[in-house]
Parts: sequence; C-alpha cells; structure tokens
Amino acid sequence: MDPVSLVLGAAIALGGVLIGRAMPRRADRAAARRDRQQPSIPAAPRTPQPICGCGHHLVFHDKDSKMCQAQVVIPGRWTGQSGGTYRQCMCQGYRGPVPLDEYYAPDLLNGES
Ligand SMILES: [Zn+2]
Ligand SMILES: [Zn+2]
Repeated sequence: MDPVSLVLGAAIALGGVLIGRAMPRRADRAAARRDRQQPSIPAAPRTPQPICGCGHHLVFHDKDSKMCQAQVVIPGRWTGQSGGTYRQCMCQGYRGPVPLDEYYAPDLLNGES
C-alpha cells in the first residue's frame, strides 16, 4: 500500500467521523432554534370568544345596525399606493354563537346555614 492511499483513507475516515459527530449536533441546534422561534401556544381562553367571520370581536359590531366598527388596514400594494390605508370593516354584522351572559348567582349558603 502506498502512503498516498493510506493518507487518503485516513482523511476519509476522519472526515466521516467528523461529519458523524457534526450531524446530530447541527440537528439539535436547528431544533433549538425552531423552539425559540415558535412561541409556546398561549393557553386557550376559558370562555369562547365571539369572533365574527370578519375576524373582529363581537364588541366591534354595532348592536343596532350590526355593522362592524373596526378599522382594517388596506395594504398599499392592493390600492397601488405607497402606504397602507385604513377603512372601516365592510362586515354587515356578527352571525355566530353568542356566549351566555355572565350572571351573578348569590351565595346560597349565606353564612347562616
Ligand atoms: Zn364582522
Ligand atoms: Zn369586522
């Protein structure tokens, strides 16, 4: 065996070891980065929120006219302008499940049981 092929073989072996060591560590680092970028999912609200199909909360919708009072941003690339413009939401009203009104139930055991 000539020394060149010996050195070449050693280099290939060494390279394989280095790659084998680097691979899992790189994957770990990528996973760690992914974990940092994705914020933990916030806890679901206790009561379902009445979000309209337009994406706005029920409180933005007028009680009488049902029109959505929220402002939406129209991106400039939609209108050809440089900056975004604000328009009133075109939603005609909230149609969805209305959560039960919160009510206060007086304490039955009024301390005199
Ligand atoms: Zn709406
Ligand atoms: Zn809306």
